[in-house]
Amino acid sequence: MSLKQFDTLWVVGAGTMGAQIALQSATHGYTVFMVDPAPHALEKAAERQREELDARIGRGEITSETADEIRKKIRFPSSMNELSPPDLVIEAATENLEVKREIFKILDAICPVYTLLASNSSSIKISAIESATKRPDRVLNLHFYNPVWQRPVVELMRGTATSDETIETARRFARSIGVTPLMVLKESTGFLFNRVWRAIKKECLHLVDEGVASFEDVDRAWMIAFEQPMGPFGIMDRIGLDVVRDIEMTYYKESGDPSDTPPKLLLDKIEKGELGVKTGKGFYDYPHPAYENPDWLKGE
Ligand code: NAD
Repeated sequence: MSLKQFDTLWVVGAGTMGAQIALQSATHGYTVFMVDPAPHALEKAAERQREELDARIGRGEITSETADEIRKKIRFPSSMNELSPPDLVIEAATENLEVKREIFKILDAICPVYTLLASNSSSIKISAIESATKRPDRVLNLHFYNPVWQRPVVELMRGTATSDETIETARRFARSIGVTPLMVLKESTGFLFNRVWRAIKKECLHLVDEGVASFEDVDRAWMIAFEQPMGPFGIMDRIGLDVVRDIEMTYYKESGDPSDTPPKLLLDKIEKGELGVKTGKGFYDYPHPAYENPDWLKGE
Protein backbone atom coordinates (compact mmCIF):
# COMPACT_ATOMS: atom_id res chain seq x y z
CA MET A 1 0.00 0.00 0.00
CA SER A 2 1.33 3.41 -0.95
CA LEU A 3 1.98 5.71 1.98
CA LYS A 4 1.98 8.75 -0.27
CA GLN A 5 -0.73 11.20 0.84
CA PHE A 6 0.15 14.12 -1.42
CA ASP A 7 2.50 15.04 -4.24
CA THR A 8 4.08 18.45 -3.81
CA LEU A 9 6.60 19.78 -1.36
CA TRP A 10 8.96 22.69 -1.16
CA VAL A 11 12.42 22.55 0.31
CA VAL A 12 13.54 25.99 1.47
CA GLY A 13 17.32 26.21 1.74
CA ALA A 14 19.31 24.30 -0.88
CA GLY A 15 22.50 23.58 1.03
CA THR A 16 23.86 20.24 2.23
CA MET A 17 20.60 19.04 3.78
CA GLY A 18 18.11 20.69 1.44
CA ALA A 19 19.70 18.99 -1.57
CA GLN A 20 19.51 15.61 0.18
CA ILE A 21 15.94 15.93 1.48
CA ALA A 22 14.79 16.99 -1.99
CA LEU A 23 16.56 14.08 -3.65
CA GLN A 24 15.24 11.54 -1.14
CA SER A 25 11.68 12.83 -1.64
CA ALA A 26 11.97 12.92 -5.44
CA THR A 27 13.40 9.39 -5.41
CA HIS A 28 10.14 8.30 -3.78
CA GLY A 29 7.96 10.05 -6.31
CA TYR A 30 7.32 13.49 -4.85
CA THR A 31 7.48 16.68 -6.90
CA VAL A 32 9.89 18.97 -5.09
CA PHE A 33 10.43 22.69 -5.56
CA MET A 34 13.72 23.99 -4.20
CA VAL A 35 14.10 27.59 -3.04
CA ASP A 36 17.24 29.44 -2.00
CA PRO A 37 18.10 33.13 -2.43
CA ALA A 38 21.89 32.67 -2.45
CA PRO A 39 23.56 33.02 -5.84
CA HIS A 40 24.34 29.61 -7.38
CA ALA A 41 22.81 27.68 -4.42
CA LEU A 42 20.28 25.95 -6.68
CA GLU A 43 22.90 25.06 -9.32
CA LYS A 44 25.10 23.65 -6.59
CA ALA A 45 22.22 21.59 -5.18
CA ALA A 46 21.47 20.21 -8.65
CA GLU A 47 25.15 19.34 -9.07
CA ARG A 48 25.25 17.49 -5.72
CA GLN A 49 22.11 15.58 -6.64
CA ARG A 50 23.56 14.68 -10.04
CA GLU A 51 26.72 13.37 -8.38
CA GLU A 52 24.70 11.18 -6.03
CA LEU A 53 22.51 9.84 -8.83
CA ASP A 54 25.61 9.14 -10.95
CA ALA A 55 27.08 7.21 -8.00
CA ARG A 56 23.88 5.16 -7.76
CA ILE A 57 24.05 4.41 -11.48
CA GLY A 58 27.72 3.48 -11.06
CA ARG A 59 26.81 1.02 -8.29
CA GLY A 60 24.11 -0.48 -10.51
CA GLU A 61 21.34 0.58 -8.10
CA ILE A 62 19.39 2.57 -10.71
CA THR A 63 19.38 3.03 -14.48
CA SER A 64 20.13 6.35 -16.15
CA GLU A 65 16.43 6.51 -17.18
CA THR A 66 15.38 6.30 -13.53
CA ALA A 67 17.95 8.96 -12.64
CA ASP A 68 16.45 11.24 -15.32
CA GLU A 69 12.95 10.66 -13.94
CA ILE A 70 14.10 11.53 -10.42
CA ARG A 71 15.91 14.63 -11.66
CA LYS A 72 12.79 15.82 -13.47
CA LYS A 73 10.85 15.61 -10.21
CA ILE A 74 13.06 18.31 -8.69
CA ARG A 75 12.28 21.84 -9.85
CA PHE A 76 14.44 24.90 -9.44
CA PRO A 77 12.02 27.78 -9.99
CA SER A 78 13.44 31.16 -10.89
CA SER A 79 10.34 33.03 -9.71
CA MET A 80 7.36 32.59 -7.39
CA ASN A 81 5.06 32.08 -10.40
CA GLU A 82 6.73 28.76 -11.13
CA LEU A 83 5.86 27.29 -7.71
CA SER A 84 2.87 24.95 -7.24
CA PRO A 85 1.09 25.05 -3.85
CA PRO A 86 2.77 22.65 -1.44
CA ASP A 87 1.25 20.21 1.02
CA LEU A 88 4.45 20.23 3.02
CA VAL A 89 7.38 22.65 3.25
CA ILE A 90 10.65 21.53 4.79
CA GLU A 91 12.84 24.44 5.79
CA ALA A 92 16.55 23.55 5.69
CA ALA A 93 18.06 27.03 5.78
CA THR A 94 20.92 28.46 7.80
CA GLU A 95 20.84 27.54 11.51
CA ASN A 96 19.74 30.92 12.81
CA LEU A 97 16.52 31.62 14.69
CA GLU A 98 15.80 34.98 13.04
CA VAL A 99 16.40 33.58 9.55
CA LYS A 100 14.04 30.69 10.27
CA ARG A 101 11.34 32.89 11.83
CA GLU A 102 11.41 35.16 8.79
CA ILE A 103 11.11 32.17 6.44
CA PHE A 104 8.17 30.75 8.41
CA LYS A 105 6.45 34.15 8.43
CA ILE A 106 6.70 34.36 4.64
CA LEU A 107 5.67 30.73 4.16
CA ASP A 108 2.64 31.24 6.39
CA ALA A 109 1.58 34.19 4.26
CA ILE A 110 2.01 32.51 0.87
CA CYS A 111 1.14 28.84 1.47
CA PRO A 112 -2.38 27.40 1.52
CA VAL A 113 -3.93 26.97 4.97
CA TYR A 114 -3.54 23.19 4.81
CA THR A 115 0.24 23.27 4.22
CA LEU A 116 2.39 21.78 6.97
CA LEU A 117 5.54 23.76 7.75
CA ALA A 118 8.49 21.76 9.09
CA SER A 119 11.97 22.80 10.16
CA ASN A 120 14.99 20.57 9.69
CA SER A 121 16.87 22.59 12.33
CA SER A 122 19.44 20.66 14.36
CA SER A 123 18.97 22.63 17.53
CA ILE A 124 16.17 25.21 17.28
CA LYS A 125 12.85 24.07 18.69
CA ILE A 126 9.78 24.70 16.59
CA SER A 127 8.17 26.37 19.63
CA ALA A 128 10.65 29.23 19.13
CA ILE A 129 9.48 29.63 15.52
CA GLU A 130 5.76 28.83 15.65
CA SER A 131 4.64 32.35 16.69
CA ALA A 132 5.97 33.66 13.37
CA THR A 133 2.98 31.84 11.84
CA LYS A 134 -0.78 31.79 12.33
CA ARG A 135 -0.84 27.98 12.11
CA PRO A 136 0.94 26.65 15.23
CA ASP A 137 -1.06 23.44 14.89
CA ARG A 138 0.57 22.72 11.53
CA VAL A 139 4.26 23.27 12.33
CA LEU A 140 6.83 20.79 13.62
CA ASN A 141 10.49 19.86 13.79
CA LEU A 142 11.40 17.27 11.18
CA HIS A 143 15.06 16.63 11.79
CA PHE A 144 16.81 14.48 9.19
CA TYR A 145 20.25 12.93 9.57
CA ASN A 146 23.13 13.48 7.15
CA PRO A 147 23.37 11.86 4.62
CA VAL A 148 19.67 11.12 4.46
CA TRP A 149 19.94 7.94 2.36
CA GLN A 150 22.68 6.38 4.49
CA ARG A 151 21.05 7.33 7.80
CA PRO A 152 17.36 7.06 6.97
CA VAL A 153 16.00 8.39 10.24
CA VAL A 154 14.03 11.54 11.05
CA GLU A 155 13.10 12.94 14.44
CA LEU A 156 9.66 14.49 14.88
CA MET A 157 9.05 17.02 17.63
CA ARG A 158 5.97 19.09 18.42
CA GLY A 159 5.68 22.77 19.25
CA THR A 160 3.21 23.95 21.86
CA ALA A 161 0.17 23.38 19.64
CA THR A 162 1.16 20.87 16.95
CA SER A 163 -1.86 18.67 16.23
CA ASP A 164 -1.92 14.88 16.25
CA GLU A 165 -2.97 15.03 12.60
CA THR A 166 0.16 17.02 11.70
CA ILE A 167 2.35 14.47 13.45
CA GLU A 168 0.57 11.58 11.78
CA THR A 169 0.89 13.14 8.30
CA ALA A 170 4.58 13.84 8.89
CA ARG A 171 5.18 10.35 10.23
CA ARG A 172 3.55 8.84 7.18
CA PHE A 173 5.47 11.15 4.86
CA ALA A 174 8.74 10.00 6.47
CA ARG A 175 7.85 6.35 5.95
CA SER A 176 6.80 7.07 2.36
CA ILE A 177 10.32 8.28 1.56
CA GLY A 178 11.96 5.30 3.26
CA VAL A 179 12.97 7.15 6.42
CA THR A 180 12.20 5.86 9.92
CA PRO A 181 10.30 8.41 12.04
CA LEU A 182 11.36 8.72 15.68
CA MET A 183 9.11 10.64 18.05
CA VAL A 184 10.66 13.04 20.54
CA LEU A 185 8.07 12.95 23.32
CA LYS A 186 9.11 16.10 25.15
CA GLU A 187 10.61 19.34 23.83
CA SER A 188 14.37 18.95 23.87
CA THR A 189 17.13 21.10 22.37
CA GLY A 190 19.04 18.67 20.17
CA PHE A 191 16.04 16.35 20.04
CA LEU A 192 17.05 12.76 20.64
CA PHE A 193 20.22 11.71 18.88
CA ASN A 194 21.82 15.16 18.65
CA ARG A 195 21.89 15.33 22.44
CA VAL A 196 23.98 12.19 22.46
CA TRP A 197 26.10 13.34 19.51
CA ARG A 198 26.48 16.78 21.05
CA ALA A 199 28.04 15.38 24.23
CA ILE A 200 30.52 13.39 22.13
CA LYS A 201 31.34 16.31 19.83
CA LYS A 202 31.84 18.79 22.66
CA GLU A 203 34.16 16.47 24.55
CA CYS A 204 36.21 15.63 21.44
CA LEU A 205 36.62 19.31 20.49
CA HIS A 206 37.74 20.25 24.00
CA LEU A 207 40.07 17.26 24.25
CA VAL A 208 41.96 18.45 21.17
CA ASP A 209 41.63 22.17 21.98
CA GLU A 210 43.26 21.53 25.38
CA GLY A 211 46.16 19.74 23.64
CA VAL A 212 45.40 16.36 25.23
CA ALA A 213 45.41 14.48 21.90
CA SER A 214 45.47 15.08 18.15
CA PHE A 215 42.17 15.05 16.28
CA GLU A 216 43.53 12.17 14.21
CA ASP A 217 44.12 10.01 17.30
CA VAL A 218 40.67 10.83 18.67
CA ASP A 219 39.19 9.65 15.38
CA ARG A 220 41.42 6.54 15.32
CA ALA A 221 40.28 5.66 18.85
CA TRP A 222 36.65 6.06 17.84
CA MET A 223 36.93 4.18 14.57
CA ILE A 224 38.75 1.23 16.11
CA ALA A 225 36.72 1.05 19.33
CA PHE A 226 33.31 1.32 17.67
CA GLU A 227 34.26 -0.25 14.32
CA GLN A 228 33.17 2.86 12.44
CA PRO A 229 34.27 4.16 9.01
CA MET A 230 34.97 7.66 10.38
CA GLY A 231 35.44 9.43 13.68
CA PRO A 232 33.86 12.53 15.27
CA PHE A 233 36.17 14.97 13.42
CA GLY A 234 35.40 13.30 10.09
CA ILE A 235 31.70 13.54 10.94
CA MET A 236 32.00 17.24 11.84
CA ASP A 237 33.73 17.87 8.49
CA ARG A 238 30.78 16.26 6.76
CA ILE A 239 28.25 18.32 8.72
CA GLY A 240 30.13 21.56 7.98
CA LEU A 241 32.22 23.28 10.67
CA ASP A 242 30.22 26.52 10.39
CA VAL A 243 27.02 24.54 10.99
CA VAL A 244 28.67 22.83 14.00
CA ARG A 245 29.57 26.28 15.41
CA ASP A 246 26.02 27.59 14.90
CA ILE A 247 24.57 24.56 16.67
CA GLU A 248 27.01 24.95 19.59
CA MET A 249 25.98 28.61 19.84
CA THR A 250 22.32 27.59 20.16
CA TYR A 251 23.23 25.41 23.15
CA TYR A 252 25.36 28.19 24.61
CA LYS A 253 22.59 30.80 24.25
CA GLU A 254 20.29 28.45 26.12
CA SER A 255 22.67 27.45 28.93
CA GLY A 256 24.87 30.57 29.29
CA ASP A 257 27.60 28.12 30.32
CA PRO A 258 30.99 29.33 28.96
CA SER A 259 32.10 25.70 28.48
CA ASP A 260 29.36 25.46 25.83
CA THR A 261 30.97 28.08 23.56
CA PRO A 262 32.66 26.63 20.45
CA PRO A 263 36.40 26.21 21.19
CA LYS A 264 39.16 28.17 19.41
CA LEU A 265 40.17 25.06 17.49
CA LEU A 266 36.85 25.16 15.63
CA LEU A 267 36.69 28.95 15.22
CA ASP A 268 40.22 29.05 13.73
CA LYS A 269 39.22 26.55 11.05
CA ILE A 270 36.13 28.58 10.15
CA GLU A 271 38.17 31.81 10.07
CA LYS A 272 40.41 30.18 7.45
CA GLY A 273 37.39 29.12 5.37
CA GLU A 274 38.10 25.45 6.12
CA LEU A 275 34.50 24.31 6.58
CA GLY A 276 34.86 20.60 5.85
CA VAL A 277 33.76 18.49 2.88
CA LYS A 278 31.86 21.37 1.28
CA THR A 279 35.00 23.52 0.90
CA GLY A 280 37.41 20.62 0.21
CA LYS A 281 39.21 21.10 3.53
CA GLY A 282 38.27 20.94 7.18
CA PHE A 283 40.10 18.81 9.71
CA TYR A 284 40.87 16.57 6.74
CA ASP A 285 41.44 17.20 3.01
CA TYR A 286 38.74 16.09 0.53
CA PRO A 287 37.69 14.28 -1.60
CA HIS A 288 40.11 11.65 -0.24
CA PRO A 289 40.41 12.15 3.52
CA ALA A 290 43.34 10.43 5.25
CA TYR A 291 41.04 8.22 7.35
CA GLU A 292 39.96 6.34 4.23
CA ASN A 293 43.47 4.91 3.92
CA PRO A 294 43.72 1.64 5.92
CA ASP A 295 47.38 2.41 6.78
CA TRP A 296 46.33 5.66 8.43
CA LEU A 297 44.19 3.71 10.88
CA LYS A 298 47.30 1.72 11.84
CA GLY A 299 48.98 5.01 12.81
CA GLU A 300 51.12 5.38 9.69
P1 NAD B 1 24.04 24.87 4.54
O1 NAD B 1 24.81 26.02 5.04
O2 NAD B 1 24.71 23.84 3.70
O3 NAD B 1 22.78 25.40 3.69
C1 NAD B 1 21.91 26.40 4.18
C2 NAD B 1 21.24 27.05 2.97
O4 NAD B 1 20.22 27.93 3.45
C3 NAD B 1 22.21 27.90 2.13
O5 NAD B 1 22.19 27.46 0.78
C4 NAD B 1 21.64 29.31 2.28
O6 NAD B 1 21.77 30.09 1.09
C5 NAD B 1 20.17 29.00 2.56
N1 NAD B 1 19.44 30.12 3.12
C6 NAD B 1 19.87 31.08 3.97
N2 NAD B 1 18.88 31.96 4.21
C7 NAD B 1 17.81 31.54 3.48
C8 NAD B 1 16.48 32.04 3.31
N3 NAD B 1 16.08 33.14 3.90
N4 NAD B 1 15.64 31.35 2.51
C9 NAD B 1 16.04 30.21 1.90
N5 NAD B 1 17.29 29.70 2.01
C10 NAD B 1 18.15 30.37 2.81
O7 NAD B 1 23.36 24.22 5.82
P2 NAD B 1 22.88 22.71 6.05
O8 NAD B 1 24.00 21.92 6.61
O9 NAD B 1 22.15 22.22 4.86
O10 NAD B 1 21.85 22.94 7.26
C11 NAD B 1 20.55 23.43 7.02
C12 NAD B 1 19.69 23.17 8.23
O11 NAD B 1 19.67 21.75 8.48
C13 NAD B 1 20.21 23.81 9.52
O12 NAD B 1 19.12 24.19 10.30
C14 NAD B 1 20.98 22.69 10.19
O13 NAD B 1 21.03 22.83 11.58
C15 NAD B 1 20.14 21.50 9.80
N6 NAD B 1 20.81 20.20 9.78
C16 NAD B 1 22.08 20.08 9.29
C17 NAD B 1 22.69 18.83 9.25
C18 NAD B 1 24.07 18.65 8.68
O14 NAD B 1 24.64 17.56 8.87
N7 NAD B 1 24.63 19.62 7.99
C19 NAD B 1 21.99 17.70 9.71
C20 NAD B 1 20.67 17.85 10.18
C21 NAD B 1 20.11 19.10 10.21
